Amino acid sequence: MFETAKRRQPLWLLAELTYKCPLQCPYCSNPLDFASAGQELTTEQWIDVFRQARKMGAAQLGFSGGEPLVRQDLEILIAEARRLGYYTNLITSGIGLNAQRIAHFHDAGLDHIQVSFQASDEEVNQMLSGSAKAFAQKLKMAREVKAQGYPMVLNFVTHRHNIDQIDRIIELCVELEADYVELATCQYYGWAFENREALLPTRAQLERAERITNEYRERLAAQGHPIKLIFVTPDYYEERPKKCMNGWGELFLTVTPDGTALPCHSARMLPLTFPNVKDHSLSHIWNDSEGFNYFRGKGWMKEPCRSCDEQDDDLGGCRCQAYMLTGDMHNADPVCAKSEHHSLIVEARLAAEGDVSTAMTFRNERNSRVFFKG
Ligand code: SF4
Ligand code: SF4
Repeated sequence: MFETAKRRQPLWLLAELTYKCPLQCPYCSNPLDFASAGQELTTEQWIDVFRQARKMGAAQLGFSGGEPLVRQDLEILIAEARRLGYYTNLITSGIGLNAQRIAHFHDAGLDHIQVSFQASDEEVNQMLSGSAKAFAQKLKMAREVKAQGYPMVLNFVTHRHNIDQIDRIIELCVELEADYVELATCQYYGWAFENREALLPTRAQLERAERITNEYRERLAAQGHPIKLIFVTPDYYEERPKKCMNGWGELFLTVTPDGTALPCHSARMLPLTFPNVKDHSLSHIWNDSEGFNYFRGKGWMKEPCRSCDEQDDDLGGCRCQAYMLTGDMHNADPVCAKSEHHSLIVEARLAAEGDVSTAMTFRNERNSRVFFKG
């Protein structure tokens, strides 16, 4: 079943430094059972991962989590990544950040900071994050990031509860003098999948949000405003799936807090064995492990993908989505209208039109423990 491994390079390394996080977003993409994860890699183990990946050609290094700021060795890791020649990006909620720490990151050579917001106002932000202080802290840190010479990169995950505020979100970004704004409609993995019913917007909500974003784009561009608004649509309203990770084991390598290496950050849910950097070299993991080779190429495909003339466009879509929704990771991603399981997506869209439950399971240690105990 395996395709003979070609020498692909892991150009993009995502270092999920920790699953610890002071917030509890109900759309978090971390695994439901994150509380059962093994011990976090040490500073030395992370540096060794960076070194090995760089040798294999990795050029971009993203620090994420959980909340990567929880790691007190973050400055050391950034400095080492810089020394190795990476372009580095910190993906953070801004909680745990202060002016001094930003200055230290700057001195250590960090290239880029992305601050995520839950909403455009304090109330919704608090409802989603579980923290009364988070919104004010995020505003302060976004301004501080810019004041210290970084481009301001903001990320809003949009869903049923905040997508109707898209105009206020964009206004806030303009007021903050953001340079890049990612308006990313929620993708349904991890906690977001658990809370899908409460989070999936209606088609009308989505279309309105996209229209308003386009209007702002045009208006701001006409004013010569440099802000870039990036609107990411959810695949639940598409008829063809995304080319997940640009191909399994082609470019992306994720290392989770306990050292498990994955071709994408959700892949641990699949019934495959994924190796750990504590036990194997990255070169072995990337080139020779079952987990990284299993879905490379197209040899694994079943019908309708196997004989589909669009297979190079999307490689059958997302393996995790196929597994979560159909129970068989070899199936076509049900987002595809050619899939016999596409009705699952259509039903979810239809459900979003009705009266949906607004109850959500928040992402925190206590709820995570319930999941891993079953
Ligand atoms: S999505 Fe929210 S809960 Fe999850 S890691 Fe980011 S800030 Fe923390
Ligand atoms: S049938 Fe498979 S390969 Fe063809 S478009 Fe759908 S998901 Fe892509």
